[in-house]
Amino acid sequence: MSIVASSLHPDGRSMVIRGAAVITMDGELGDLQQADIHILDGVIKQIGPSLQVQDAETIDASAMIAMPGFIDGHRHLWEGVIRNTLPTEDLAAYFRLVNKSFATGYGPEDAYLGTLVSALGALDSGTTTVFDWSHIQTTPAHTEATIAALRESGLRSVFGFGMPALEDQGHRWPQDLLRLQKEEFSSADQLLTLALASLSPEHVPEAMAKAHFQLARDAGLIGVHAGLQGMGEANAIERFGKVGLLGPYVNLVHCNTLSATEWSMIEDTGTSVCITPSSEMQMGQGVPPIQQALDAGVMPSLGIDVETSVPGDMWTQMRVLYALQRSDAFKLLHAGAKACGMIDCNDVLQYATIAGARAARLDRKVGSLVPGKVADIVLLRADRLNVLPLNDLKTAVVLNMDARNVDTVMVAERVVKREGHMKQLSSRPYQSRDWVFSKAAIPCRSPGHRF
Ligand SMILES: [Zn+2]
Repeated sequence: MSIVASSLHPDGRSMVIRGAAVITMDGELGDLQQADIHILDGVIKQIGPSLQVQDAETIDASAMIAMPGFIDGHRHLWEGVIRNTLPTEDLAAYFRLVNKSFATGYGPEDAYLGTLVSALGALDSGTTTVFDWSHIQTTPAHTEATIAALRESGLRSVFGFGMPALEDQGHRWPQDLLRLQKEEFSSADQLLTLALASLSPEHVPEAMAKAHFQLARDAGLIGVHAGLQGMGEANAIERFGKVGLLGPYVNLVHCNTLSATEWSMIEDTGTSVCITPSSEMQMGQGVPPIQQALDAGVMPSLGIDVETSVPGDMWTQMRVLYALQRSDAFKLLHAGAKACGMIDCNDVLQYATIAGARAARLDRKVGSLVPGKVADIVLLRADRLNVLPLNDLKTAVVLNMDARNVDTVMVAERVVKREGHMKQLSSRPYQSRDWVFSKAAIPCRSPGHRF
């Protein structure tokens, strides 16, 4: 099966995006109402009006907005073949059905296909980087298959090496992290980087969590779920902060129930936070802690989390969080508060781009459009019925657009979507879906569908 990632420039090369309205997400460059972007060998060389560039392929973007690709701060990509299966289930049911049932039937091929389907869906909707918290590492073959799918997709990914679905299948988690670092992730130029996906001291014995945090510190990044409503030991993150185990190498996901002290430690230590608004609200993890983050001066990233229950595009997450924070702020004002800060479209766009880049420790490369960063760029059609006439760039992107506006997606020098088209998948994801459901003995609500 050959999928995706056509390259317009097999020999490397020069490309100019002409005449776009550019949202750079860079404090100094700001928004440019009409500009060109020159890209050489996948790196942004120059941004400005009417650039003089010879012998470059040109993309006419005069009816488009160019912006950095979205960065999804937390997703379990392997669940791609069990999308839209759990619309009403809470977190406890999710654990029972996904971790204890579906996952047990996943062979390496299913991990590969689930990851590939989800990665391609992310790209199709304008997401160019995902922190993949991949807790399906049952055997080294699962790990190899997951990495292969991420590479094949063309998505920039943090591969979060997660725990196995089954304990007795020869997994090498987490000790294989350093081997993977050496064998698969030694080059700084590739699209994939490595993290440990593990459990917080709230959920496992402290000594185990400590060992995992220390192991991950060498690799540079660990992602853990934290502060889930009704789960785990209170104040464990505070304890870790006191012994110096927090820091920019730690990515805490959800954080709904963390204390004010813990939030202040997060800010002090530069620890990153990812909020996944839809899954947190739908599945009972707690109210997305945007106000706590704002109060502590922490800029969160945003994530999809689980496609079993929520859509895979970042627009949904931006809009859910935007409405939630403003609704809560209005509630306070109506109750007599004198003032209450409200987020705006620039804020949520930062969460969905540069904050995700920082959390993934990739902000030197991606998250904004500036010369020297790689060209992870999406071109969004602004002449569509859902958005014309264009009156404000960021408001149009955040409040009006969606995946139908995504014309072009490039990840460094690879153009993975062009003029609204991506290559299509074969029938293998359907076969994987049928296999995984039958192994889990869970009836599929739409059996036999091949679409
Ligand atoms: Zn998660």
